[in-house]
Amino acid sequence: MKSFIKIIKMGLAAVLVLSLAACGASGNVEKMQEASTEEVSKADTICFGTNAEFPPFEYTSENGIIEGFDGIDIAIAKHIAEDNGKTLSISNIDFNLLLKSLQNDNVDAVIAGMTITDERKELVDFSEPYYTATQVMIVKEDSDIQKAADMKGKNIVVIQGYTGEKCVQDLGFSYAAYKKGSETIPELMNGNCDVIVIDSVTAQKFVDDNKGIKIVEDSDAFETEEYVIAVKKGNKELLDKINASISKMKEEGTISEISQQYMDVEVP
Ligand code: GLN
Repeated sequence: MKSFIKIIKMGLAAVLVLSLAACGASGNVEKMQEASTEEVSKADTICFGTNAEFPPFEYTSENGIIEGFDGIDIAIAKHIAEDNGKTLSISNIDFNLLLKSLQNDNVDAVIAGMTITDERKELVDFSEPYYTATQVMIVKEDSDIQKAADMKGKNIVVIQGYTGEKCVQDLGFSYAAYKKGSETIPELMNGNCDVIVIDSVTAQKFVDDNKGIKIVEDSDAFETEEYVIAVKKGNKELLDKINASISKMKEEGTISEISQQYMDVEVP
C-alpha cells in the first residue's frame, strides 16, 4: 500500500513538473518553481506554443532570439509579449497537438504560421490575420508540372495536418504525408518525390536555400490563406490584447520589416 501511495505521489510530482515545463521551455522552469504560487509567474509570462519546423516563421537556432527559437512568428510573439509588459516563453509542440495544448491550458496562445480554417475555428478563437500566404508546389527545375492538375499520377508529398494536405485531398490526388517540411526537400532532391505542396513563404525559403528546385504557383487551384494567432475559446481578454498589438505592428510596418529581415537569413 505504501509503495502504491509513493507511486501516486511520484506521478503527481511528474504531472506538476510537466505542467510547469510546458510553458517553461528552458530557464523559466526554475524561476516558475521558485515563485510562491504558479499565478505569480503566469501573470508575468505569456507562453506561445509553436512548431519550430516552419522556416522562416519558426525554427530552432542556437542564436535564436529566445530560448533557441527564431523566426518571423517568434519575433512577432516577442513584440506582443513586450507590448503587454510580459516575458515571452516558447513551447515547441507537434503541429497537430497545438490546438489541443491551448484547450488543455498548456500554452496561452499559438503562433505557428497557422491558417484560419472553419474546422479549426470550431476548436479555438483566432486573432485578426497578421500574414497572407498561399499553397504552392515545389518541383525540380526540369519538372513538367505547370499547374496543380499536372500533379495527377505524380509522387506528391505534403506535411501532415498542414492546409496543403487538405488542398491535395480536395484535388482528389493520393500523396505521402511527412512530419516535417525539412524532411521533404531531400526526397525531392533525390527523386523520391516529384512535388511538394506547402505554404508559399516557407517554399521560397527552401528554394532559396537549395539549388535545382523551383516554385510553381496556381492561384486557380490554391486560395489565399491568412495566418492567425490562436487562443483558447472564450479567452477574449488575451485575444483583445493580441489583436491590439497586431494592429499596432501593422500600422507601424513592423510585421513587414520583420518578414523582410527573416527572408534574408539563412536558416541553420
Ligand atoms: N499554414 C499551414 C497550416 O496552417 C502550415 C502551418 C505550419 O506548418 N506551421 O496548416
